[in-house]
Amino acid sequence: MDFLPISLRISGSRVLLVGGGQVATRKARLLLKAGASLTVVAPAIAAELEQMLAQSGGNWQRGEYCSAALEGAVLAVAATPLRQVNEQVFRDASARQLPVNVVDAPELCTFIFPSIVERSPLTIAISSSGNSPVLVRLLRRRIEAMVPAAYGRLALFAGRLRDTVKQALPDAGARRLFWEQAVEGTVGELVLAGKEGQAEASLQAQLQDTAPYHRGEVYLLGAGPGDPDLMTFKAQRLLQSADVVLYDRLVAPGILEMARRDAERIYVGKARSEHAVPQDQINQLLVTLAQQGKRVVRLKGGDPFIFGRGGEEIELLAENAIPFQVIPGITAASAAACYAGIPLTHRDYARSVRFVAGHLKDGTLNHDWSEFCSESETLVFYMGLVGLPVICEQLQRHGRAGDTPIALVERASTPQQRVITGTLATMAAIVERENPRAPTLIIVGNVVHLHDRLAWFGEHNDVTPR
Ligand code: SAH
Repeated sequence: MDFLPISLRISGSRVLLVGGGQVATRKARLLLKAGASLTVVAPAIAAELEQMLAQSGGNWQRGEYCSAALEGAVLAVAATPLRQVNEQVFRDASARQLPVNVVDAPELCTFIFPSIVERSPLTIAISSSGNSPVLVRLLRRRIEAMVPAAYGRLALFAGRLRDTVKQALPDAGARRLFWEQAVEGTVGELVLAGKEGQAEASLQAQLQDTAPYHRGEVYLLGAGPGDPDLMTFKAQRLLQSADVVLYDRLVAPGILEMARRDAERIYVGKARSEHAVPQDQINQLLVTLAQQGKRVVRLKGGDPFIFGRGGEEIELLAENAIPFQVIPGITAASAAACYAGIPLTHRDYARSVRFVAGHLKDGTLNHDWSEFCSESETLVFYMGLVGLPVICEQLQRHGRAGDTPIALVERASTPQQRVITGTLATMAAIVERENPRAPTLIIVGNVVHLHDRLAWFGEHNDVTPR
């Protein structure tokens, strides 16, 4: 992080703005909105700026800048077209350890102005630390569209009732749950619809009945295959509401960062053949934490119900009558297929697809291989890297042609994605040479032919020996 985002109270404080043109006018508007007592130093200023100063009780010191103008200021902003003057302001302010911003010169800034989405008192600040104003603008446009205009009213409403709720619910955790449910439920909807009287009545009624808000809950969230953008909105929302997050090796760090900063994070491991926390202990932990009244999120790579042992984890919850939800995620097969340009089904190549567990037990794979011999079926092997030679050999032995195409997709959907293709006859040797890193997914069948034509993501990371 190059800059620490903070929100500064400058109401009534003296702020120095050097420059009087269009750019300075824009900055003045923002500073005045935050209640600054503004002093502008410039030989000449735009009419609009002069008017703003007159209205806000600010003042214009006509003339050239000199360092004495910094006296008593809490912030300095330089917005002149003259590099020399801007540099001088920067040097003088820095010498006084005064936060300073020179417009359009990140190297002459000790603070920067983020782009703002304003739903006052709610303020969303976006910054690329000066790296990409275009990206920031795009993001801002999206957030503008996403955040209802009335959210400011909702924030004011919550602010007004904060003390009331605090008195009724002294426990911080219970209070947070209460507010989350209020804001996301009827109360929030009523405020957004402009019915604040009814909203307050509803909130008061809910405060009388606090029991449900102490109840723990468990969410089993599909975190998708790695790229954090591939999580569902629902999973994101619930993750952000968690008091405790249990995660393992398959969950990308970017996803974990979406959790609240004060949420407890528990790593439950699960590297192949190194189960950091045994499954039954994970199951029990979910129950224990929920019984403590916590909102527990168990993050699962991909989809919780596809080779995720999600079923086992909720069984004990059900037995203990703990409320839970399971939120689907994008499974590795979908992600690997889409990102590698290998449709799992295709009118000309495959009419069905089968997801198969590919991990070895005692050096072998216990499947009825004769079921896998249809040429018009795509096979997807999860956990199959170590067993790949066995998979290729068994499929050939049970009738799949040696030239059947096969792809191994390494770390699908991440920037490290790599696609290695070959045939059932050649793949074992290719993989030994290429030494891919887990997690990897294996796709077998004629759809793999399409990869050459349809791949776009990670096309520079292709290994396609001919
Ligand atoms: N529930 C998960 C699967 C868990 S089993 C899901 O729905 O995706 C673990 C296996 O998933 C790994 O051995 C690997 O085969 C596969 N896998 C998970 N993420 C992957 C990724 N990003 N790229 C390739 N394979 C992945």
